[in-house]
This record gives sequence, C-alpha cells and structure tokens, in this order.
Amino acid sequence: LFAGPCNFFFGAQKLDQLPVPAAPEIAFAGRSNVGKSSLINALTGRKALARASSEPGRTKQLNFFDLGGRLTLVDMPGYGYAKAAKDVKEDWQGMMFAYLRGRPTLRRVILLLDARIEIKTSDHEIMTLLDRAAVTFEIVLTKCDALRPGSLEVKRAQVADLARQHPAAYPEILLTSSENGLGVPELRASLASLALP
Ligand code: GDP
Repeated sequence: LFAGPCNFFFGAQKLDQLPVPAAPEIAFAGRSNVGKSSLINALTGRKALARASSEPGRTKQLNFFDLGGRLTLVDMPGYGYAKAAKDVKEDWQGMMFAYLRGRPTLRRVILLLDARIEIKTSDHEIMTLLDRAAVTFEIVLTKCDALRPGSLEVKRAQVADLARQHPAAYPEILLTSSENGLGVPELRASLASLALP
C-alpha cells in the first residue's frame, strides 16, 4: 500500500465541495505544529506531500491523498492556532466538525498529540466530538525522539488514562517520531488494515 504512489487529488474548502465518497478514509487531526505534515510525509515516504496545508495563515482546507484507490488519507487543518481570526477559525472548525460527523467513508481518525507538551483544551474538545460522532480514533504521540525513555513512559501512561475516558478512543497509544522513524511501520500496518484489498 505505501510502496505505491500517494497522490494529492482534492482540496476542499467547503463542505459542499467534498469529493464523492469512495475508498475508506483515514483523517489526520491535531493542533497546528504537532508534526502532522512530517508524520504523513514519513508514512508515505514523500518529502513535501503535506507541507503547504499546515502553514499558519494559509487557506485552511481538507486535503485528500489517494493510495492506489485502496485508501484515502485526509489531512485536516491544524486546530488551536491562536492567531487565526475568530470568524475564519469558526468557519473551518465548523467544516472540520461537520466532516467528522457526517462522512460515510471515514473509518478512523488519527489524533496526533505532541509528546513534549501538555494536552490542551482544543485536544479535549476534539476527543469529545469524536466520541459524540462515534468516530473511532487512535491517539498517536509525535516527536517522541525529543523525550527520554522514562518521561516518554510517564506520558504514554497519562495519555492512556485519558483514552480510557473516551469511548471512541483506542486503548493503545502509539509512540512515533518522524525524525527517527519510531512507530512509523506500526502506524502503516494499522492503516493498511483498513484499506480495500
Ligand atoms: P504540522 O503543523 O502539524 O504539519 O507540523 P510539521 O510537520 O510542520 O512540524 C512542526 C515542527 O515540528 C517542525 O519544526 C518540525 O521540524 C518539528 N517536528 C515534526 N516532527 C518531529 C519529530 O518527529 N521530532 C522532532 N523532534 N521534531 C519534529
């Protein structure tokens, strides 16, 4: 699945512009700067696949990437970026929430949390939303190379506690790093299990 090409095929700025639902979709969500672009690039083996979408101030859109017609990766706009204008923020957050609630082909959300920083209100909000929408989500810690093993285990246990409070969350917390490739094969395998044959 990940050996083949991964092509950007759609950028949606409005809900009525979404591509026709086809292959199973996995959406990547997380706060701005969580390392989402880097992780998507590490997963797909491409250098600059998902970069532009994450730059603060850029037009926020849902970016769709096709993996051989078997799986679609959806790069969601980073949330929690304080400097965005309030009305703009509400606009794309509304779209993001509507997508998460109503997309028939959405199979799972990969929710990224930065291992180095505490969990923020916006992270709690999206987890609650995913519970309500009954969208299964898998919590993935990013930038794990930046923590010592001891601190990393403390963090994992803390996040696992949080996951237990969310019915839609997977109990397992995946540790990843785009810098050294930690957890990348495991995440690929997890995504591949949702792809069409
Ligand atoms: P995005 O806004 O969520 O798409 O985040 P980016 O992928 O653009 O990364 C944000 C910042 O975090 C950049 O400065 C990256 O170099 C850094 N970063 C991303 N992934 C990692 C990682 O695995 N380890 C470390 N140490 N830094 C990372």
